[in-house]
Amino acid sequence: MASKRRQRRNECGDKVRHSSPQAAWGHAHSLRQKEQFGRVGIYKCRFCRAWHVGHHS
Ligand SMILES: [Zn+2]
Repeated sequence: MASKRRQRRNECGDKVRHSSPQAAWGHAHSLRQKEQFGRVGIYKCRFCRAWHVGHHS
């Protein structure tokens, strides 16, 4: 289960948790403008069930 633990760190870990997709989009939008994240998106975390901003493969 070592790989699963690593996956959780990638998909959840210390990421910001948003309680709604609207809030996550707001964060994603500011990241795009500030750091030129480009294709950053949002996804619902299957671990903590919050919304995260990041690159979801
Ligand atoms: Zn999470």
